[in-house]
Amino acid sequence: MLKNRNAVITGSTSGIGLAYARALAAEGANVMINGFGDKDKIEAERSGIEKDFGVRCIYSPADMTKGDEIAAMIATAEKELGSVDILINNAGIQHVSPIDEFPVDKWNAIIAINLSSAFHTIRAALPGMKARGWGRIINTASAHALVASPFKSAYVSAKHGIAGLTKTVALEAAEKGVTVNAICPGYVWTPLVEAQIPDTMKARNMTEDEVKREVLLKAQPTKEFVTVEEVAAVAVFLCSDAAKSITGTLLPVDGGWTAQ
Ligand code: NAD
Repeated sequence: MLKNRNAVITGSTSGIGLAYARALAAEGANVMINGFGDKDKIEAERSGIEKDFGVRCIYSPADMTKGDEIAAMIATAEKELGSVDILINNAGIQHVSPIDEFPVDKWNAIIAINLSSAFHTIRAALPGMKARGWGRIINTASAHALVASPFKSAYVSAKHGIAGLTKTVALEAAEKGVTVNAICPGYVWTPLVEAQIPDTMKARNMTEDEVKREVLLKAQPTKEFVTVEEVAAVAVFLCSDAAKSITGTLLPVDGGWTAQ
């Protein structure tokens, strides 16, 4: 379905981003992966995608806090792959703390990585999409783009910001064959969720099991974590021609969380 399409996925060395990369590659798209982590593991993921799906997969180490590195990443993808037809803004971090103790550097990093990086990628990639008359921009937002939870002020602010950016760019690109949507997952079992358990245990004085049951899955009516494959399948659908009239949406994949 996506043969001859080229995709850039930020934050795709792990979790949901890696699942997007593999799902798009499975449909025939060439992909650029990005993110941090162990060099050898990243190379194994990169070459694994090429081997498993017979597509090109290139890696960019661009830091999503740095606008110049982001612009260079999109330019490299355009040069090496030929175009950027699909852009998935997915890089994200979390920090859990009451606002009166929230570290300023964590606030700045979360706003930069979870929100401003999408501004920089879209700004660089949209002109090519408009010129070619086809594009798909997908932002990984969160249920926290629609509702809040305590102790996550920066994350909830950034994700609500991504919701606004999604709608705005959707309107700007609507007549150019470019759709812009946000996927809003509930709790997906990834390293990001696993990593916030210790801080939540501390902030709420709870055991690990209590955090999983009474905090994470409390609001998720299915009482199950969403899987990375389920989120990636929604992105593949949004890239299809059948989804060409879907734009400017915030699409929950949250086991019913935000229906409440
Ligand atoms: P993850 O920690 O597994 O992956 C995050 C990715 O972002 C990694 O590849 C990491 O290297 C990359 N990254 C972090 N900082 C970066 C930087 N400065 N520059 C470049 N890359 C950077 O997390 P995940 O759970 O897969 O999260 C992916 C996205 O999904 C995030 O935007 C997150 O907010 C969102 N999300 C996750 C959940 C969940 O429950 N896991 C729910 C809703 C939304």
